Amino acid sequence: MLTDSPPRKAKLGRFSDSDRITTLALPIDDESLTAVQSIAAGMKTGNAQQVRVACEQFLQSLSRFYQVSPCGIRVLASRPLRVHENWSSELFGDYDPSTMAIRVWMRTAVKKEVTSFGTFLSTLVHEYCHHLDFQLFHFPDSWHTRGFYERAGVLYHHARGTPQKRLEWAPTAKGR
Ligand SMILES: [Zn+2]
Repeated sequence: MLTDSPPRKAKLGRFSDSDRITTLALPIDDESLTAVQSIAAGMKTGNAQQVRVACEQFLQSLSRFYQVSPCGIRVLASRPLRVHENWSSELFGDYDPSTMAIRVWMRTAVKKEVTSFGTFLSTLVHEYCHHLDFQLFHFPDSWHTRGFYERAGVLYHHARGTPQKRLEWAPTAKGR
């Protein structure tokens, strides 16, 4: 994973905050975990409707837990070939802070391969962490800092029921 370069001075303080916050409170109820199981089941059988409903339940239960505004979710069959990425974009999803909406796609654009469940869930959680950056932490922007990836990892492993991992970081060019 590659972090974003630090921004100019005005926003640097909040960027550092984002970099420093490496963990996230986690729900202890199993409502979100039940929804995750349903996402997995829907992906296995290719039931897009089930995946969509389960994603909605998953994100709604998280937003109730974090006491933030719910975000919209669209689950699309395959990634549009031409996507106008004006803000943030991952290989299988994006988040628009102006509409608070997440889009995730179940298949790649070119080969139409089904996204693996792990990649799909990781994307969903990643985009949701952008939502939390604005709605929970009130950052003016949602940067891909080390803290961002740590928070996304904590939430992903919780949702997946896999052991938490510590990430190791090494400096590259331009402060990344
Ligand atoms: Zn992102």
